[in-house]
Amino acid sequence: MNEISAITVEPAGCSDAPVLKERGQREVFCGLTGIVWLHRRIQDAFFLVVGSRTCAHLLQSAAGVMIFAEPRFATAIIDERDLAGLADANDELDRVVTRLVERRPEIKLLFLVGSCPSEVIKLDLSRAALRLGRKFGADLRVLSYSGSGIETTFTEGEDACLASLVPVLPASDAAQLMVVGTVAEIVEDQFRRYFSELGIHDVGFLPPRRAGELPAVGKGTFFLLAQPFLANTALELERRGAERIAAPFPLGVEGTLAWFEAAAQKFGISQARCRAVLDAPAERARQALARCRITLAGRKVFFFPDSQLEIPMARFLARELGMTLSEVGTPFLHREHLAEELALLPRGTFLSEGQDVERQLDRCDEEKPDLVVCGMGLANPLEARGFTTKWSIELVFTPVQGFEQAADLAELFARPLRRRALLKV
Ligand code: SF4
Repeated sequence: MNEISAITVEPAGCSDAPVLKERGQREVFCGLTGIVWLHRRIQDAFFLVVGSRTCAHLLQSAAGVMIFAEPRFATAIIDERDLAGLADANDELDRVVTRLVERRPEIKLLFLVGSCPSEVIKLDLSRAALRLGRKFGADLRVLSYSGSGIETTFTEGEDACLASLVPVLPASDAAQLMVVGTVAEIVEDQFRRYFSELGIHDVGFLPPRRAGELPAVGKGTFFLLAQPFLANTALELERRGAERIAAPFPLGVEGTLAWFEAAAQKFGISQARCRAVLDAPAERARQALARCRITLAGRKVFFFPDSQLEIPMARFLARELGMTLSEVGTPFLHREHLAEELALLPRGTFLSEGQDVERQLDRCDEEKPDLVVCGMGLANPLEARGFTTKWSIELVFTPVQGFEQAADLAELFARPLRRRALLKV
């Protein structure tokens, strides 16, 4: 049954806004999807899904076929024989991994990725990772995580992957900053430059570009989340003594500015230095947004829960581009990590958590939004009903964080509206 929690105190923005919580049929992809952007980020890692043909199809259709490069992900298919317990899946897995390592000595980090089938047959991939790690020694680090999908969202795969890396990060109690969450290389370079100009020089990124560049962690580590779906990774980092810097996410000009300022404050950097470093790129980014504002201002947007990026995106679209928020649905609402975002959302925004897809489709019909942000599975049916849609998965495939990407992010939402307008002519 649907429940609406009560407002108890006078909140800032939507800090204590009521949230419609739904538990019904959901339309989401599983965590295997994260491999698509993670394998691009960690350039000497390999992701071996231990799964079924369905898992292989999902990966293939989400990632496409690599023509010019050797693939860095694959699926070890568990067939019916394994499911019936007739074959020793562990022996088979060891054979597959040995063949892979012999053929691809450049691989330095191997993730064994669990799936629904591997969990059904209770294949213990963490033990397999330990066993294989011992076998290959210092040349290859072997880790495992689950990408299986019954009760998850597609971005949780990244959270599980990064959480599996935290225990193997080198230890250091030196004062340092860690940026947590996959960002494109161009975004990493920009972030490093601004941090350096601010006076923060010891900055690590998780995940790094290469397995040998894992950032250190310890009591002197402060970390900034670059993505809002990393609850378990944050917990693991805190267990190792690191402290999260509370901030909005670096999406749009306002979010990026507040994100850098939160780090600067933690490292004792003056307001004057922040203004000297950040004001000019922030102003350039505001000007770049103007073109999209013409298309987006006053238009109504509805978010189906999919990526966990919905709340920061809604904040950006409402505050910097003048869009009207209809429903903002998110698969999970992490109140602590999203506190600064919720405070910035326009008061009265309709928030929902979880999904009962039929009811939500009815609400979408009633609201008649100009733009619907949703998963790939819902986009086609909604387009057929006359709605203009944006796939939320594009928000993790595209470099969107930081000042220089703010206009590109706005463009992702403006483009479908312009295309629809052209089709109507
Ligand atoms: S939901 Fe399960 S079976 Fe389907 S692709 Fe994902 S891991 Fe494989």
